[in-house]
Amino acid sequence: MQTHLSIINPATATLVKEIPIDDATTIQQKAAAARQAQPAWAGSPLAERIAAIARFRDLLGQRQADLAATLTAETGKPITQSNNELATTQTRLNFFIDHVAQVLAPDVVHQEPIGIPGTGDLEEVISYDPLGVIANISAWNYPYFVGSNVFIPALLTGNAVLYKPSEFAALTGLAIADLLHTAGIPEDIFVPIIGGGATGATLLEQPLNGVFFTGSYTTGKKIAAAAAAQLAKVQLELGGKDPAYICDDVPDVAAVAAAVADGSFYNNGQSCCAIERIYVHAAIYEEFLAAYLETVQGFVMGDPTDPNTYLGPISRQIHLDELERQVKDAVTQGATLHCGGHRIDGTGWYFAPTVLTEVTHDMAVMRDETFGPVIGIQKVESDAEAISLMNDTDYGLTAAVYSADRSRAIHILGQINSGTAYWNCCDRVSPQLPWSGRGHSGVGTTLSLEGIRTFTQPRGWHLRQ
Ligand code: NAD
Repeated sequence: MQTHLSIINPATATLVKEIPIDDATTIQQKAAAARQAQPAWAGSPLAERIAAIARFRDLLGQRQADLAATLTAETGKPITQSNNELATTQTRLNFFIDHVAQVLAPDVVHQEPIGIPGTGDLEEVISYDPLGVIANISAWNYPYFVGSNVFIPALLTGNAVLYKPSEFAALTGLAIADLLHTAGIPEDIFVPIIGGGATGATLLEQPLNGVFFTGSYTTGKKIAAAAAAQLAKVQLELGGKDPAYICDDVPDVAAVAAAVADGSFYNNGQSCCAIERIYVHAAIYEEFLAAYLETVQGFVMGDPTDPNTYLGPISRQIHLDELERQVKDAVTQGATLHCGGHRIDGTGWYFAPTVLTEVTHDMAVMRDETFGPVIGIQKVESDAEAISLMNDTDYGLTAAVYSADRSRAIHILGQINSGTAYWNCCDRVSPQLPWSGRGHSGVGTTLSLEGIRTFTQPRGWHLRQ
């Protein structure tokens, strides 16, 4: 049985560190300790919980250089992008800190005099109690973002969190735990559980009040089944196949091409909301394609520790096979390969940025989540054709429309089945707005007030004076 995780640097294919894996016994002990500690945490003053999270935010800032280096070492994320993630996480935490009191405040929803002599008034109130002990099983691609979307509001609202970071971002997971504990979160209230899929499955055998998962659709279905077995609340943030449609009226085609290329290739395309399909109106197709290719060919690929690097290695070696499969499938069926299409010989797990045209929805590259630096671009003749193609997917995370005309864009987006709609932007997340997927992209909501409330359960109070 595997007892240690080997953390491998994707840029150099060398061992970074070996760390012990949790086994069934330690997981059970940790879950039992969290269960025991949770009521006291829920009973602690909200101001104290907020102060601890504010200290955690400040520690992220103070230790940012080291934390970014660790993230880059274990995922291959370019250092500039690791720093961006850490900096943005600090501002995102302010949203939770500023809004948790509002969400937890009891709602007085009804008051009436009873009208019976000798009896007082009736009051109906809703309180928002923590769920209890929750599991947070997380992905590696943005461990600070996707993790803190869950464990920060969960902790603020009084839950204990059993946090299983991805096996591909486990050092970051341990660093997060260390900083939260330093900030004052009790060790039995935020508890890291280290290991891969089997460890996650064992975690889901513990008694839980909620299961919050970020990862692939395939794993998400297993998570939902495991959570259902004990009737725990389940929330799933899964993959995407996010489309962008470029209308014929965009005023600056080259600028749009550059923005959409960034939305496709940032973090090597390893973003749940990366643009994975592009539809371009025939009237501007040639101009768009030329500008898009020029942008992609200008991307600097290389050592992720170099601040000038835009494209690092692929984080999981095995995923190179999937990228090759999708390219081969497309080319075999008649797609045109403009650049890339292959892994790069040498040290590390690099894949050349790849642009395909003459693609169709019979090809895996336009159907399956790619999660890498490979994009398909398709010419369309009308808004109606674009809408039909954008909706031709099992996923429903985000959709983007670029147009000079706000009402045209909103009319198109209104017909697309996605949790997020973008006009003249893409690959963007805001703490004020709900983050949720439809179809194979998931169940439930993080971020926004809704994404704080999701870590609570309402309780109805009938109060007669
Ligand atoms: P993954 O599904 O392979 O793994 C996710 C987590 O699940 C890991 O911690 C893994 O160890 C664990 N796991 C695997 N099998 C398990 C099992 N049987 N029981 C319990 N836990 C198990 O996904 P990944 O490669 O880490 O992440 C990439 C995926 O995540 C992509 O599909 C991406 O789109 C998605 N994602 C979605 C969002 C979003 O907000 N919707 C954000 C980030 C990533």
